Amino acid sequence: MWKLTIKSEDDLSHKLKWLIFFRILFASLMLGSAVVVQVGESPFPLTKSLIVLYGVIVGIFLLSVYYALIFRYKKLNLLFPYIQIGIDTFIVTVIIFITGSFTSVFSFLYLVVIIYSSMIIFRKGSMVMAMLCSIQYGILVDLEYYGVINPFFIKGSSNIGDYAWNIVLFKVVITMSACFAVAFLSGLLSEQVRRTEKELSVMEDRVKRVEKMAYMGEMAAGITHEIKNPLASLAGSIQILRKEIPYDPEHDKLMQIVLRETDRLNTLVSNFLLFAKPPVGKIEKIELENALKETLNLFEKNQATSNRVSITIDLFPNIWVEMDPVHLRQVMWNLLLNAAEAIEGEGLIKVKTYLAKPNYACVEVSDNGMGMTTNLIQSIFDPFFTTKPSGTGLGLSIVHSILESYNTWLDVVTKVGEGTKFTWKLNRIDTTT
Ligand code: ADP
Ligand code: MG
Repeated sequence: MWKLTIKSEDDLSHKLKWLIFFRILFASLMLGSAVVVQVGESPFPLTKSLIVLYGVIVGIFLLSVYYALIFRYKKLNLLFPYIQIGIDTFIVTVIIFITGSFTSVFSFLYLVVIIYSSMIIFRKGSMVMAMLCSIQYGILVDLEYYGVINPFFIKGSSNIGDYAWNIVLFKVVITMSACFAVAFLSGLLSEQVRRTEKELSVMEDRVKRVEKMAYMGEMAAGITHEIKNPLASLAGSIQILRKEIPYDPEHDKLMQIVLRETDRLNTLVSNFLLFAKPPVGKIEKIELENALKETLNLFEKNQATSNRVSITIDLFPNIWVEMDPVHLRQVMWNLLLNAAEAIEGEGLIKVKTYLAKPNYACVEVSDNGMGMTTNLIQSIFDPFFTTKPSGTGLGLSIVHSILESYNTWLDVVTKVGEGTKFTWKLNRIDTTT
């Protein structure tokens, strides 16, 4: 999740930079066309509306410089795009005012602002902007209708007084509805894009993880075999020696150390092999409640932690999945062990199963232990990554590669000091068939 927020912040500033660029482009175009229109006329006219227009253009340039400075020297905050686009709606209102107000052809600019607001601040933002546009347009036309303000007239255009009140109302209502309709539709689209992007990014993370594991796995599998064979002959030789040579307590102690250490190495290497190449399981139909209870019982009995860590279970009855029971035990064992190890002093582990749409069975193991920092989460699936003095760092890599063989993965939610929740899911099967 944290990664997404960073990404979307990057994304936001990227879009805002483009917006600033386009705003400058727009102002330049406006400047260019105003000059072109004027050049043809002589004497060089400088009407009130032109003065205001040049004012607006200069205003846009100054604002752009100001925005760019904020960009450079300040941290982005969420209000910044709202303020920028809000000011844009006001600029549009001014442009409409000086180009004939009610009769101006530029009211479509509101829609442009609303569309890009939906790309930058999404559905909520575009609705807010539609509201702002409607209010400003309504006020503008109202003030004009009641003669409070007098728009600048462009030669040859008509005046609001030429229209009946119902026509005026009609146009205002149409403009407002258009604002909201566009906000709604483009908001809908941009929400969809945003959701797809999010999903993509989650998938991307997963694929990266899998690629890394696959690569390490290949390497590991090769090395592991090379280590296991010499280890076996080493242990065998010592055992023979031990029988052959006359008993000497000093020598015997040394040989026992050799045997113990080769044993340890062997377990480590086997574990690593398990991660690198999990054996193809014997897939069976298993009922989660029973299978999990069995593992939990075993875990509670075996653990030295059972007097300080209590386990609560909340298992949905009668969920069937297809999995090798040995795999299930390995996955759960590693998760439970980690959960217990994350708890200092007394604590609580919760194991829960539940159904999820469309037909998933989800298994959740949570603890109220120390939790993890966002940096740590990145590495926990790497083989040999451990934060524990006597950890092997293989637990989660094994879990990951086992789950990978079932086409599923672990989700992690964690908070430092509050605890960690690991969830994984499998397809549920229907046992009635
Ligand atoms: P190990 O348990 O041998 O350290 P794992 O692969 O099982 O290796 O776990 C890797 C690391 O992930 C752990 O060292 C720990 O820092 C972190 N971790 C795993 N599970 C939890 C948990 N439930 N709470 C906090 N940290 C965890
Ligand atoms: Mg572990």
